Formats: sequence, C-alpha cells, structure tokens
Amino acid sequence: MTAPAAPAKPPVVEFRNVTVRFGDFVALHDVSFRIEDVPNRGEFVTMLGPSGCGKSTVLNLIAGFQQPTSGEVLLHGVPVGGPDSDRGMIFQQYSSFPHLTVLGNVTFGMELDRSAGRLSAKGRHERAMDLIAQVGLSGHEGKYPHQLSGGQQQRVAIARSLAVEPRILLMDEPFSALDEPTRLEMQELVVGLWNRIQPTIFCVTHSITEAVYLGERVWIFCTRPGQIVYDIRDAIPQSPGLTPMAAQELPAFKQAAKVVGEAFRKVGDSKRAAPSR
Ligand code: ADP
Ligand code: MG
Repeated sequence: MTAPAAPAKPPVVEFRNVTVRFGDFVALHDVSFRIEDVPNRGEFVTMLGPSGCGKSTVLNLIAGFQQPTSGEVLLHGVPVGGPDSDRGMIFQQYSSFPHLTVLGNVTFGMELDRSAGRLSAKGRHERAMDLIAQVGLSGHEGKYPHQLSGGQQQRVAIARSLAVEPRILLMDEPFSALDEPTRLEMQELVVGLWNRIQPTIFCVTHSITEAVYLGERVWIFCTRPGQIVYDIRDAIPQSPGLTPMAAQELPAFKQAAKVVGEAFRKVGDSKRAAPSR
C-alpha cells in the first residue's frame, strides 16, 4: 500500500494579479508570481529595474506595510495582514537604535517577538552572541551604532533581522551606501547566512553583478506601469563558497551577467522609446 501523497504546500509568497495605484498613477500593474515552499530551502530572488518601477512597493506589500489596490498578496496561502516578525526588512539606511549597544540592538526584537519571547533571557543572549559572531562583530557587543562603520552598522541590522528567525527577509538596496570592498564582504556574508539559515530572500539592487552573485533568480522590472518583465533562473550559476571576486571570474558568471545586462538594457530602451507623460 502506498502512503497518500502529502498535500502540496501553498507557496511561501504568491502575488495574484496585484495592482497598486497611487491616485491615477499605476505603480504596479497586474503582477503575479509564486515562490514555492520547498522544505528547508529558501529561494533567493534579486530585483533589478529602473528607479520608480515598483521594486520597493513589492517589498512593502510582502512586509504588510502596504495593501494592493486590487489582486491578492498571499503568504503561505493566507492574505497578508500587517507587518510581523515572520518577515524582516533591511533598508539602505542603517536602522539600528542609537541608544542601544550592538547586543541591545540584536536582542531588542527578540524581547518583543512572541516566538523568540519563549526563549529565556539566557537563550536570547546566546542566540544574539551567536549571530553577532556570524556577522563578524564579536568583540563589538558593547559598542553603540555611532562607534561603528557603515558596514558594521549594516551587519548589526542583519543580525537583528535574523535574531527573530524570519522565514522571509526583505532587503531594499541594503548595500548601496557602502564602499565597494565592504559591499563585497557583505554580499559574501549574506550568501553564507542564506546557505546556513535558508530564509526566502527578496533583495533589491542596482548592480547586475550583485544581482547575479546573490540571487538564484533575477527579476527585471519595467516602469509605466511597473511589472516584472524578466524572470531569469536557468542562466544564473550558483557559486557556493566563492567570494564575489572569484565568482565573477567564472565563465558561467560572465555569461549570466551578460544575459541579465542585455535584459536590463532592453527594459531601459523600451522605457526611453515610450512616450513620456
Ligand atoms: P522603486 O523602488 O522601484 O524605485 P517604488 O516601489 O518606490 O519604486 O515606487 C514605484 C512608483 O510609485 C514610483 O513612481 C513612486 O514615485 C510611486 N510611489 C511610491 N510610493 C508612493 C506613495 N506613497 N504615494 C505616491 N506615489 C508613490
Ligand atoms: Mg526603491
């Protein structure tokens, strides 16, 4: 006798014909996608597109900061409510609490969060110290944000977001304010954390090489109205354990960057060709 097949799980995130309008302006038009729920395996989606094409709006919808004008945003099959600790958001601007130390910042969310709230104070402290080590900040636990560099502050934001163990991590141009060497370090850090922890990640970036290094799937948006016009998966190589510099030397990486770059350019060309309003 064969066991009955387990029912298919609803997608981690599903957009069904999502449109967002601000007055007459259509920020997102009829966007649909599914991120399937694969056990112990989070997908990493990177998002590229011209400014104003609705990338942040997609993150805000998943975060629950914003509701669609029409269509549905579902998380695990349930329409999204307000923001919750199952989704973490990391912004370009460092969003640490200035009056709390590194350790205080990382434990703060856990103290508020219901699930992590079940941890004892000792358990929270241990998890925070572990994450601080994972983001390379051991020894800096007692410092305040103003005593840290931009890259270190962004590490604090990442540790704080991960402390409540979100299933979904939303990153909006997280490394845009960092210098190039720090950006590369942070890219490697995030890929390492993703491989170990396996959240589903959506990350907006302006860099083609960053999109290809971080993501397994690259979305390219167009404007007027905002839509996802390319969903590039097969061309994106995985480079586990490689630094961004080493990965970029691989022929498969160069080929992927070319495919993504060409798609991005087509989107830009069509935008320039479109009549301006
Ligand atoms: P992106 O992140 O791709 O640059 P956004 O998602 O932030 O774009 O915005 C998409 C479009 O919607 C932009 O043209 C922006 O000006 C507009 N928009 C975003 N939020 C609002 C708002 N609260 N009110 C009016 N227009 C908005
Ligand atoms: Mg944006």
